[in-house]
Amino acid sequence: MQATPALTVEHLTKRFGGRVAVDDVSFTVAAGEVFGFLGPNGAGKTTTVRMLGTLISPTSGSAIVAGLPLSPANGVAIRQQIAVMPEAPGLYLRLTVTENLEFFAGLYRIRDRARIPAALEAVGLQGRATDLCGNLSKGLRQRVALARALLNDPAVLFLDEPTSGLDPVASREVHGLIDGLRERGVTVFLTTHRLEEAERLCDRVAILNTTLRTIGRTDDLRDRLFRKRLLVETRAPLTDPGSVFDGSPGVTGWEANGSGVYEIVVTDAKLAAPDVARALVAAGADVLSLAEQRHSLEDVYLELISEDVEATR
Ligand code: ATP
Repeated sequence: MQATPALTVEHLTKRFGGRVAVDDVSFTVAAGEVFGFLGPNGAGKTTTVRMLGTLISPTSGSAIVAGLPLSPANGVAIRQQIAVMPEAPGLYLRLTVTENLEFFAGLYRIRDRARIPAALEAVGLQGRATDLCGNLSKGLRQRVALARALLNDPAVLFLDEPTSGLDPVASREVHGLIDGLRERGVTVFLTTHRLEEAERLCDRVAILNTTLRTIGRTDDLRDRLFRKRLLVETRAPLTDPGSVFDGSPGVTGWEANGSGVYEIVVTDAKLAAPDVARALVAAGADVLSLAEQRHSLEDVYLELISEDVEATR
């Protein structure tokens, strides 16, 4: 039996006056999944998070958040199950780390004071409990914000660009914390502009540009969007490349791309590569390299977003 999804979103739409910020978006996020939510500026990511976080009401559509239908009546119950970490940490800089967490625990009506040291421990900040937040680096403040988000031990955690403005070391620490959340079974809904971050952390990603452009595992998105190719480099150009590649099983096309460099279109790179290698060797070629052409999530993203730009021209 499949566990109940952490999020089920159906035809969610938000209009601000005449402007459609989020248009008919549907997706599900499994419990315990780290889910990436990508899209250009103004794509509607934060608006989606604010709707699912019960901060604003959808114009139309529905959602089930942590098992509860999204409705004003369920607002309090949903907020007990989730946490939203906004892009700006929003801490009181003249209060200490613990004082900040005590303040927010009071605001969230969290009576179990043991949650404060537990949240500090989860983000590795036990040693900084008495430091003023104003004296902490941006990276450490972000960790305090994450500790604040963990105070109610949420089942679903929305992180809105958690590494925005952080240096690579601080970003990597936040990534480590997100890995830790995954291990604890927390569902993480991560909006980010950093594609390598999404690729490294997320089980699946969705690309939004007001409407949902695509959703899936990064490998599947690459496969769906790009034809599979092998890249072959030989020491000298082949005298008759057609006779080498055309007869090879799984090869559907090829083109020369410079001296001794060939791009071979294949149905399945892993199945076709050994046959292509054998055909090259049989033809007496000195093979310098034979590799699958890899696309990054960035390629997928740019391909989809550039289609949108062209469509609006
Ligand atoms: P970014 O990556 O820049 O944070 P985003 O994907 O989070 O962008 P949103 O902040 O959700 O995008 O904004 C989506 C659209 O809705 C934008 O055109 C924005 O101007 C508009 N919008 C957001 N909030 C409001 C609001 N309260 N009133 C009017 N328009 C709004």
